[in-house]
Amino acid sequence: MKISVHFKSCLLGLVSLCLTGTSIEMTSVRDEHKNKIKHEAYSNLERIMEEQEERLGIIHKDKPNLAFEVSNYDERFFAVYTPENDTINFNSKSLTCETDLIIYQFINWLEGNEVENYRIVLEHELGHFYVDKLNESLGKGNWPIFPDSKDRAGIIGLRIISEGIAEYFERTHTQQLDLFTDSEWPNNLESYDATDLPKFKWLIYGGGYHLVKPIIDSYGKNGIKYLMLNPPKNDEITNLEKYQNKILQELKENKLGP
Ligand SMILES: [Zn+2]
Repeated sequence: MKISVHFKSCLLGLVSLCLTGTSIEMTSVRDEHKNKIKHEAYSNLERIMEEQEERLGIIHKDKPNLAFEVSNYDERFFAVYTPENDTINFNSKSLTCETDLIIYQFINWLEGNEVENYRIVLEHELGHFYVDKLNESLGKGNWPIFPDSKDRAGIIGLRIISEGIAEYFERTHTQQLDLFTDSEWPNNLESYDATDLPKFKWLIYGGGYHLVKPIIDSYGKNGIKYLMLNPPKNDEITNLEKYQNKILQELKENKLGP
């Protein structure tokens, strides 16, 4: 592909030169890329949901909406699920590579299998959709609903469980390993600093997956439900290994299976 070869030269130190020299060419590639992803997402959504049902022993209720024109998120987030309208919002900023920052990721998307990459995004966001619908089915409304900003532990607890479950959905497809270790859990709330995005994402996504994995591995959909109803609170956030053991013990005592 011409544009791909051209952008490889950017990697050799000609970034600004090729950005200015290819803006028209880029626009058409961006549109083409976005339309392709849109088409693939719509045509494969049901099949991916059915495969998740079989793989995870769950049943999806309804189907999420898909949106592709949302651009009010950091471009390093490829999609965001909004429980209030059951919608998977692909981030058009990262989808179309509107900023220079994303350029290297864009090259990777182009040179990799872009359709497969967006399937990974869908696998993750469908995890968020599943838990939201599960909570709704119990008459408890949308999930997650974050507490007041003063309750930082409550917010972090919900995010870790929410992203951990979504990662579980994603990684049972990608086979990405759990590389997080218990010794990495912070023992203070201040370490969950969202301004240090790589570290924050590692704790919330990598840590979240590490936290929920043994629970969902053993208890399946009952494990997901139990985590949804009992996220870590207050001082549990600063001792998540203990929280994980507590949840495993309670599930064992309740004799809940997968
Ligand atoms: Zn997520």
